[in-house]
Order: sequence, then structure tokens, then C-alpha cells
Amino acid sequence: MRALLSSLLISATGLAFTPSSADTPLRGFFPQSIQAQRDLETRFKSMPDPAHMRDAMQRLSARPHHVGSAYDKDNAEWILAQFKSYGWDAHIENFDVLFPTPIERVVELVAPTTYKAKLQETPLPADPTSNQQAEQLPSYNAYSVDGDVTGPLVFVNYGIPADYEELAQRGISVKGAIVIAKYGGSWRGIKPKVAAEHGAIGCLIYSDPRDDGYSAGDVFPAGPMRPPQGVQRGSVADMPVYPGDPLTPGVGATKDAKRLPIAQAPTITKIPVLPISYGDAQPLLAALGGPLAPGSWRGGLPITYRLGAGPARVHLKVKSDWSLKTLYDVIARLPGTTEADQWIIRGNHHDAWVNGAQDPISGLVAELEEARAFGNLYKQGWRPKRTIIYAAWDGEEPGLLGSTEWVETHADELRAHAVAYLNSDTNSRGYLGVEGSHSLEKFVNGVAMDVEDPESGVSSWKRLQASRILNGSPDARRDAREREDLRIGALGSGSDYSSFIDHLGVASLNFGYGGEDDGGIYHSIYDDFYWFTHFSDSSFVYERALAQAAGIAVLRLANADLLPFGFTNLAETIQTYVKDLQSLRDRRAEQITERNRQIDEGLFKFTSDPRDPVTAPQREQPAPQLNFAPLLNALDSLTHAATRYEKAYGRSVSEGRVANAKAVNDRLIQAERALTSTEGLKNRSWYVHMLYAPGFYTGYGVKTIPGVREAIEQGQWQDADREIARAAAAIEREATLVSNLASALGGG
Ligand SMILES: [Zn+2]
Repeated sequence: MRALLSSLLISATGLAFTPSSADTPLRGFFPQSIQAQRDLETRFKSMPDPAHMRDAMQRLSARPHHVGSAYDKDNAEWILAQFKSYGWDAHIENFDVLFPTPIERVVELVAPTTYKAKLQETPLPADPTSNQQAEQLPSYNAYSVDGDVTGPLVFVNYGIPADYEELAQRGISVKGAIVIAKYGGSWRGIKPKVAAEHGAIGCLIYSDPRDDGYSAGDVFPAGPMRPPQGVQRGSVADMPVYPGDPLTPGVGATKDAKRLPIAQAPTITKIPVLPISYGDAQPLLAALGGPLAPGSWRGGLPITYRLGAGPARVHLKVKSDWSLKTLYDVIARLPGTTEADQWIIRGNHHDAWVNGAQDPISGLVAELEEARAFGNLYKQGWRPKRTIIYAAWDGEEPGLLGSTEWVETHADELRAHAVAYLNSDTNSRGYLGVEGSHSLEKFVNGVAMDVEDPESGVSSWKRLQASRILNGSPDARRDAREREDLRIGALGSGSDYSSFIDHLGVASLNFGYGGEDDGGIYHSIYDDFYWFTHFSDSSFVYERALAQAAGIAVLRLANADLLPFGFTNLAETIQTYVKDLQSLRDRRAEQITERNRQIDEGLFKFTSDPRDPVTAPQREQPAPQLNFAPLLNALDSLTHAATRYEKAYGRSVSEGRVANAKAVNDRLIQAERALTSTEGLKNRSWYVHMLYAPGFYTGYGVKTIPGVREAIEQGQWQDADREIARAAAAIEREATLVSNLASALGGG
């Protein structure tokens, strides 16, 4: 697009931020519509007010507000009142979900010495909300099964599958043991899942000071990092199988919904789990014997990190209240005019683990500020062409509950009407981060060019580009310099976009600034107003930038003449995925061949240190050749169709006219749906998108073309060709749809 190129040239001269002018093309808008849209955006951008967002954060994070708490409901009602006062049509939608809260928690070292873990985050005099203990949810991992177990302790690093291979080579089994894993390296719910698969009976997860404690910076309240007693709460439900209420997979958790018995809910852990602080972890780890932990496994505690098993023995007990709790989703609507049945949806959650100033209020106050600004514009007579729906979700922290149950309840309407879903969650100072559907990559690049970075004065786009050139890999640097659009990452899971993109195929984007503020208060009682206003975006200017970026994205989607989807970047991105899969297969094949040869040659036997013996790993089945031709052919079709569409789009837009815009737009919103398959992913049919899914063994981390990638990674070669065919079929469907769209626009 010319718009992007010309902005790039302006930026390249080193000039400070200058907003695009009315004669610069704007993706999705006819020439005669651009001036009005630019004027609207200029008015909008002046409205978000840092002082207003600061007040809102202080109010919303004043007390603990987890699911089921009094202040969670109070916040929802306050948010509802705000939307109404801004002139929106708003209501609260309730769901009843399984949300366990702890009754009893015990972690104690019972041999060779004894230590009883405090499991207590202490109030700090400097921090005025840290002493609200009567309302704080104790530190725990939600959806840990109840249990009372005692066994030898084993240190398992991050507790991902590769760590267990390493342990097995040292002859260390976790069968009958309690494992202790560091936070990080995977989503936390993967740790108890993999531990249980290897026969462990319990799981502890701790925050090592090397990752977010004193090794990384001064600890709170002197600095932003995790103090010795700080604990990361969090869900350990098996969300890569399905998120949302464990008792109502695939359907909304309404009053009369059919519910699974708790004992049959597949996403509850198989073994008890508790998170602990590094203060509580140190005596347990120090009591471990056995081999020295590999260098990369060791953390920042002043101890010798050993693997076990034992002689440390640990007693772990977890018991929860398993009653249903009520969710309060706030749903607000600004009705559209001519395209009212096309919906632009924007959301951020409002529930927190404790006070949650950063997570989620830093994102939520930006969203509310957008809503306030749109309300002002509405009162001044502006009307969006499409309907705008703003949601403040409840129950995100335990498992994306509020968004998932809402999406499952309204699935049919959303499939028909949802144009796109725009999410945010936490926000801080730094670089604009966007992940999401690559059919919106070009569009969101245009948005980033029109939002000023508050610290440098250049656009958020220019600042991100500069950082990628300076800090990126050679490939990333070349892309950032030469490619028309900055790349956006694919979405895994970990926030409320999941059900929109993964379950329905609604094109989605996640927005958030970050990268300049370190912190070690995630999901602890110290994530509060005091922390945020001392160690993060204390002037709230990045809060304003987030409101501007997400708000402009909403305004453009809501008013566009032709919805701003584009498919050339999508095709090119899929091409990088396919190349990556081919080299992944070749790398795996080479590794397996070499490893099997090493085993046959007896190399492990010869090099094993008798004082620290290592056995040979298991032989693996050699990797077969895979037939990537269906994927490559589908990709050719999509590339061709995308190029045709882009030409036809350019011609239509420059003519300022599309004969059947309504029909074209209706078909455009189905483009992301075409990438889904009704039967879903293997062993997790809730996930239907064939391009993006959270990893079965990584959790938040995305797996692109997940069916094929996981078949290769997990050595399930028998599935690989079938998964290639399924992914190829989805890409062919997309190609057909895009090709038809090009024809509808009169493309040759
Ligand atoms: Zn969050």
C-alpha cells in the first residue's frame, strides 16, 4: 500500500511524528471517505485522558477482586454504570462456573530435616493495599485436584517433556515423587500435566529469583521485582484441551446448562499442585541430594541445586471449596447504522487474582477510556456504520471463563456477525506489541503508524521498527528494514481472544505496550496501584497510547467502506510456516538418526562418569519422509488468489466504488472461518483453527499449523500426512473464498 510506503519514507528521514494527511490512502476507505475518517480519528485521539485512567485504576484495584468476591461484582456494576453514563446500551451477563478456592494448603519438609512452608505473602508497610488479607485469595493454583500426598522430592527444572528425558538419562524417576518445578519455560498448567504423565504424585511450582527476583533487580518495595515471600497464583487447568468452565465444554455455563460431574472434568489436574515463593522453596531445594543439576537448570538461590530424588521428603496437601461461582460479564453496545449486523468486538478482563492493577486493570482502563471517548463522539452526533460491542470479561484468570462462556453461548450469532475481536490485557511502557490474524497484519501496521509513541515522539510503528533492526536476528532485521509491514506474531492462548479465534475463527488481534518495565509481581498481592504507579507507566501516557491504538483500530473497522482484510501477508506468512515445518522434519530426522547411531556405537556407555552416571536415551523410530505437496499446492492457490484480491481491492478503492460492498464485506468476515475445520484438532476438538493453537505441551506458546507441527515434534509420524492434508484443505478453502472475493470486486 502506498500509505505505508509514504509513511515509511517520511519516518526514514528521521522526522518526528506527523499524523497521516487526508490524501494518504487509508486501508478500507474510499478516497471520498478518508477526510471524514481522519477528522474523526483526530477528535478521538485527543480524548483519552491519563488522569482519568489513573483514577479508574485506583478505583478498580482498590480491593481484591477475584471471581466470586464482593469487589468483583462491585467492579462489574461500576463498569456497567460507566458504560451507561457514556451513552452505551449495556448489561451484565451472568454465568455459573466451577471455580475452586482453597480451604487447606500444606507444604512441609518432613525429612531429613523439617520445615513448614509459610505459604503467606506478607503485607508491606509502604504498600497500602497489601494488608487486605481478609479479602485476598491465598496463594494457590486453581483447578488443582484435592490431594494429601507424601513422597521424595525431585527437582525437574521447568517441568517440560525434555527435562524428564534428561532426568531419565541420569536414572532419576519421578514415579511416586513430588516434583518441584520453576515457573517459566512453559505455561504453568503444563507442569503438573507432564509430571502426572511421568508418574509423579504431587507438584510444587516456585518463582526462582534468577527469573523475576533479586537476580533480576531490586525487589519490591525497593524495586519492581519479586520479594522472597511473593507467590505467583494461577490456573493449572488443562487449557490446551479446552478453556472455560471445566464442567461445560463447548456450551455456555448458563443456569440450566448440562454439567459434567466434577470427577469427570478432563481439564482438572490429575495430581495436587501448589505454587510457592522462593523463600519457601529454598529449604526444600537445599535438602535435596543426588546429582548436581545441569548448569542451565540452576537458579539464583544461594544453594547447590541438586536433582534428588530425596533424601528430602515432602508432605503436600490441597483441599478446595468446589462450589459454583457467578461470573459478571459486562457487555456494552453502540449500535451501527447501515451495517448494524456486522459486529466489531473489543474486550479486556476485569477480574484479577488479587488487586491486579497491572493485570488486568492497566488494559481495562484503556478500554474504558476508548468507550468514554466513543460515547462523547456519539453524543456529538457521530454514528458507527457497524455495531461496536465492548466487553469487560469476568473470570479470565482461572481459565478465560467469562469470554469463553459468552462465546459458546452466542456462537451462532458470532459466526454470522463478528467481523473481528480486539483484545488487550496488561499494558506498560515500551513497544507496541500486536499479535493476531495475519489477514489483519497490513491493517494493524497502518494503525501503528498513526499512533504516537509518548517517549520518543515518533510513531509506535517507527519505534518498533527501530528496535527490531537494532535487536533482531539477521532475518528479523532484514524484514524490519525491507518488508512493507512489520510482522505480527501468531496468537497462542493466555487471554480472552482464545475462544474467538481458536473456537470460532473470528479474526482477532491482541494489543499491548511493553518491554521497558521489569516486574516480579505477576499474580501476587503486590500487583497493585502502589506498584504500578511507582514502577510502571506512572504517568499513564502508555495507557493513553493503548487507548488510541485499539480505539483507532475499532473506528476503522467500524467505518470502513471495504473491510480492511488483506491476504498477501497471510499467504506469505503461511509460506514461512510451511518452510519451517519442512526444516523441522529434516532436523528431527537428522537428530533421530544421529542419536540412534550414538546409541548403537555405545558412546553413552563409554563416556558415562561412574560417579555421575548417565545412561543412553531410548532409541527412536526413524523419521519417515512426509509429503508436503498438498500444503505447497494449497499455498500456491492462496498466493495467487491473494495477489488477485489485492489488485482488485486497489482498483475498487481508487475508483471509490464497489458494486456490491455489503455482500463483499459479509464474505470477507467469513475469511477467517474458512481456516477452521469442524472436526477440530486431534484430541482437542474445541480448537478448530488449522493455523493457530496453543501448544499441547507449551500452553500459552503458539503452535502454527498445529496438527502437523505437533505430529512432527511428538514423533507421531503416522498422523503427519493426514494433518498435512487437513491443513491444506483449510488453506484451499481460504484460497477459493479469496479468489471469489477478487472476482466479486471485478478482479481479473
Ligand atoms: Zn490478565
